[in-house]
Amino acid sequence: MTKQSNWLDRINPTVRSIQPSGIRRFFDLVAEMKGVVSLGVGEPDFVTPWHIREACVYSLEKGYTMYTSNHGLLELREEIARDLSSSYRVSYNPREEILITVGVSEAFDLAMRTVLCPGDEVLIPAPSYVSYAPVTLMTGAVPVYLSTSMESGFQVSPEMVEKAITPQTKVLLLCNPNNPTGSTIDRKRLLEIAEIARAHDLIVVSDEIYGRLTYVGEHTCIPSLPGMRDRTILLNGFSKSHAMTGWRIGYAAGHPDFISAMTKIHQYTMLCAPITAQVAALEALKNGKSGMHKMVEHYNHRRRLVMQAFREIGLPCSEPRGAFYAFPEIRSTGLSSEDFAQQLLKEEKVAVVPGNAFGEQGEGFIRCSYAASVDDLTEAFRRMNSFVKRRVNK
Ligand code: PLP
Repeated sequence: MTKQSNWLDRINPTVRSIQPSGIRRFFDLVAEMKGVVSLGVGEPDFVTPWHIREACVYSLEKGYTMYTSNHGLLELREEIARDLSSSYRVSYNPREEILITVGVSEAFDLAMRTVLCPGDEVLIPAPSYVSYAPVTLMTGAVPVYLSTSMESGFQVSPEMVEKAITPQTKVLLLCNPNNPTGSTIDRKRLLEIAEIARAHDLIVVSDEIYGRLTYVGEHTCIPSLPGMRDRTILLNGFSKSHAMTGWRIGYAAGHPDFISAMTKIHQYTMLCAPITAQVAALEALKNGKSGMHKMVEHYNHRRRLVMQAFREIGLPCSEPRGAFYAFPEIRSTGLSSEDFAQQLLKEEKVAVVPGNAFGEQGEGFIRCSYAASVDDLTEAFRRMNSFVKRRVNK
């Protein structure tokens, strides 16, 4: 006799309780429509520069089709160590303190699974990147949100961090510059936060994937601050800085104890990141600086256009200082963030992400990516302007 199961009941309850990403849900809808101007997805509108693609083609010609070491190509790790040292004056031993991963996504998952036990608490500035809470929950740990506000530029404050600490707090998660708000944490504030992390013996997981996309002031890499290198797991990658989202290359840098534990999980689950993509990442680091700077200049130009557009439309928006997102408030329209995004899509064919996709702290806001051409941005804001005017002047 065959036993017939209810398969849903057989799924791990933690996995069952996790919602699909609000961004993906929305973009499945967009994919079915024609004529949509999208300020939705968080990925560069540039194709990876040719010299990087060419390095990959060349590696295939040479027959690079094998596994690499679990840690990743040593040459790439050496180049990353050189880059971190020359850019931020923080030094890592490429042999035991750097691990190449399948995007920052894998590095983040490994970092969290490596340090967290069920019941541990993780401090997460919110609104926050969509993966942070689900990945935390899957380890059995508990996300504790540090609610930031538009009035304070979506800045996480040292007081907020200190107040949220309990005996269970193990990790402080930072995303600098931030997705979805575009806020950055300046050196002075980061020094104050670092002092608290040291005083309470916290591990800092620092997602700096947008570090190169900093438009106001300079990016401070938290492990470069005194006493922070060994307690920080630094996460970075190539997706945003070098327009390489599809290549799936990221890395983690940190104390050898963290990196070797992360490598154990990586070894059994992923084995290694794809070799051809690692070769491409190596080329990006070696010869990709000027291409990267050009892309950043474009984003900065668009950032100014976006701020001007929101002033004209009349939606309050704190100045985004990094990444390529603006996070304006839409409360004056009387709509929830979900209704705003859906009605804007239906009536004007403009795609944005509702703020609540980034947690309840994002309600009342929408996220607009300015990794889109100037023409698309101009058209999107023309349409958004009439949409908002219809709501506000009703
Ligand atoms: N971290 C943040 C803050 C992101 O915004 C993203 C992608 O949008 C990622 C990590 C994922 O990066 P990767 O493509 O390297 O996996």
